[in-house]
Amino acid sequence: MRRNIVAGNWKSNQLFSQADELINDIAEKLRNFDSTDVDVIVCPPFPYLELVSDAAEDVEFFVGAQNVSKFDNGAYTGEVSAAMLQSMNIDYCIVGHSERRKYFFETNRDVAEKVDRLLKVDINPIVCVGELLEEREEGRHFDVIRSQVSEGLFHLSKDQITKVILAYEPVWAIGTGKTATKDQAQEMHAFIRGLIADKYSDDVAQDVSILYGGSCNAKNARELFAQPDVDGGLIGGASLKHEDFIEIACSF
Ligand code: PEP
Repeated sequence: MRRNIVAGNWKSNQLFSQADELINDIAEKLRNFDSTDVDVIVCPPFPYLELVSDAAEDVEFFVGAQNVSKFDNGAYTGEVSAAMLQSMNIDYCIVGHSERRKYFFETNRDVAEKVDRLLKVDINPIVCVGELLEEREEGRHFDVIRSQVSEGLFHLSKDQITKVILAYEPVWAIGTGKTATKDQAQEMHAFIRGLIADKYSDDVAQDVSILYGGSCNAKNARELFAQPDVDGGLIGGASLKHEDFIEIACSF
């Protein structure tokens, strides 16, 4: 059975002292949180993974990385391997965020390789897909998402695909304040679930959590999460404000 999930993507934000304060505030709020309905994940920059993991020790939330190397350990200066993340007990890892596709030229093939690396060490990938504004305006958004989902994920087995979390993040909505409407989100989430059902089965598709991301905040989360195929959110800007982040996590 799929879970509701709210994941905070801190991106490349926060100095150490700010990260320390933010995670302590989040942990404090989560101390008496009823996590029956939702899994909360915090994805800080690499240098703060240990700090956030320490805070997660006596409070119920999970820790995710924002990226992983497509290579194994070795002579790849600057890279962080899946094995390193596993050795730090990291539970999740974002893959294929549109900022990585745009600034670091990551392709669907890179996404597929990173997903494989993560699954090999039992880390759940959070795989981001999303169309550009011009792709939507030209009516190509479903084709773009179909390619991203199939090229990034459809080499996986039935068992493996249920360990993946998908995040539909229309690029035009990320950090812009232009949130997708609930109908736009539901339409694309249902489309993605349909792709998974066609490739695997209905049962498998029902087991995969599909998150919405893109200017999701404390005001609009409840309406988005109420859609039948929206299983939570990947939250950027609003995850840096502990009160907003927790309010979003309480929006089911
Ligand atoms: C993101 O970067 O994954 C994201 C959804 O950002 P924001 O919430 O700031 O739009």
